[in-house]
Amino acid sequence: MTDTQYQYIDGEWTDGEGNELVVRNPASPDETVVSFPAATGAQATRALAAADEASGTWGASTPDEREAVLYDAADRVEASLDALAETLTLEEGKPISSSRGEVARAAEILRFFASYTRTATGDTVPSTDPETFTYTVREPLGVVSLITPWNFPIATPTWKVAAALASGNAVVLKPSSETPTIAKRLVEILEAAGIPDGALNLVVGPGSTVGDELITDERVDGISFTGSTGTGMHISTTAAERGVPVQTEMGGKNPQVVLPDADIDAAADAAVAGAFGLTGQACTATSRLLVHEAVADRVTEAVVDRAESLSVGPGMEDPDMGPAVSADQDETNFEYVSIAREEGATLLTGGGRPAEPESGYFIEPTVFADVESSMRIAQEEVFGPVLSIIEVADFDEAIRVANDVAFGLSASVFTADMTRWREFVDRVDAGVVKVNGTTSGSQIQMPFGGMKASSSETAKELGQRAYEFYTHEKSVYRTDP
Ligand code: NAP
Repeated sequence: MTDTQYQYIDGEWTDGEGNELVVRNPASPDETVVSFPAATGAQATRALAAADEASGTWGASTPDEREAVLYDAADRVEASLDALAETLTLEEGKPISSSRGEVARAAEILRFFASYTRTATGDTVPSTDPETFTYTVREPLGVVSLITPWNFPIATPTWKVAAALASGNAVVLKPSSETPTIAKRLVEILEAAGIPDGALNLVVGPGSTVGDELITDERVDGISFTGSTGTGMHISTTAAERGVPVQTEMGGKNPQVVLPDADIDAAADAAVAGAFGLTGQACTATSRLLVHEAVADRVTEAVVDRAESLSVGPGMEDPDMGPAVSADQDETNFEYVSIAREEGATLLTGGGRPAEPESGYFIEPTVFADVESSMRIAQEEVFGPVLSIIEVADFDEAIRVANDVAFGLSASVFTADMTRWREFVDRVDAGVVKVNGTTSGSQIQMPFGGMKASSSETAKELGQRAYEFYTHEKSVYRTDP
């Protein structure tokens, strides 16, 4: 393997046969992190053929064989934690301490799904016929295409790959073109941990070039996608035409509600962590702060103070906030600042480039007030560090505004009132609900996924539920002769 061989097909590292793919450091865009030939559609097809060939053997492997590979990979991830974190930060830009946390989480995910190989079970169901024993078994789908974004470039590929492999599927992974090297490292680690040839394949190339093969090839038995709503809807529609199981986790426009009895400091801390952590580039980032008018001034002041105290800089210097991932995302951030101003929102802080550093895709943490729910800044996903404050008159209005968007990924409420938070849990449109916590962040043993335009809602990721997506369920009626 050379440093520019990013395609892993049937156990061999190979050159791409497509155009050159150049990855730049978002903190210093003149600096090329890596440049290599991308995969072609024909290479994606070869990867699928290799997976198809390997799926029978890997699917028939015993739980302890699959467990051994995943545990070993977890140890290797931990042993290379610092180098992996550096790779991640150079490509994606996030603060190095966040990258270390994400790499450690990848090891945790590998262990979670390793243990799963032995504990996943079917059901024994009471039979109404005494002669017949009724139970369910789960079997791997076969070949799965896993398509991932750049914002958690090791955690997301790991939670798909580990769940798919643990349940006996053969995999073709297509990571984001923005962050290919960390995905390559993950595959190298699984190779060193003993994954058989063909059971895991990596295809790195633009979605527009290799995407169709990974969705439409007749050997694909399941597709798991995380990314934007536009791409996700295209994938689910195409997969539906073939009747192939598909899971899509997509965008968000996540609200945090603050009621009058809330702990204001805790609410402000959470809003700032949720809006500006990871440069707002989390699907569960807080983008709307819905504040009861009785505490609006205090909450707004606390949030603006905190936002203005955040450091912004290259991820390798471990600031509070790194750059946007790419020139496109940088442009989107500033475009939404202009849109919000034109719509009549009041810019309270941020909205421009920080004085330092001089180059890179940096933007100040940005807070808008006087936002109406109908404005584009309150409706559309920015995927950057831009927080909109919307005042509400009462709890019912908070719920109405919280639900007044196409998305339904994550939502949070700050209150000490048990009746209120229970009602919030019942009425809010969100797949993840936090009470007195930030909208971002999740635990790996909890099912994860959204509602409405945030998710296909076909199956959750992570937790026990992940297994359901990657397996067929058979209902067995056994009557002895
Ligand atoms: P994206 O542009 O939709 O890309 C996601 C993945 O899809 C990338 O690997 C991309 O490849 C690939 N792709 C693009 N076009 C394709 C096609 N026609 N066929 C098959 N694959 C295709 O999203 P992104 O900009 O990477 O990520 C940001 C988005 O992800 C945000 O909307 C965010 O909310 C969402 N997200 C959601 C969750 C969640 O769990 N709900 C988690 C994280 C992120 P290329 O990179 O080569 O274009």
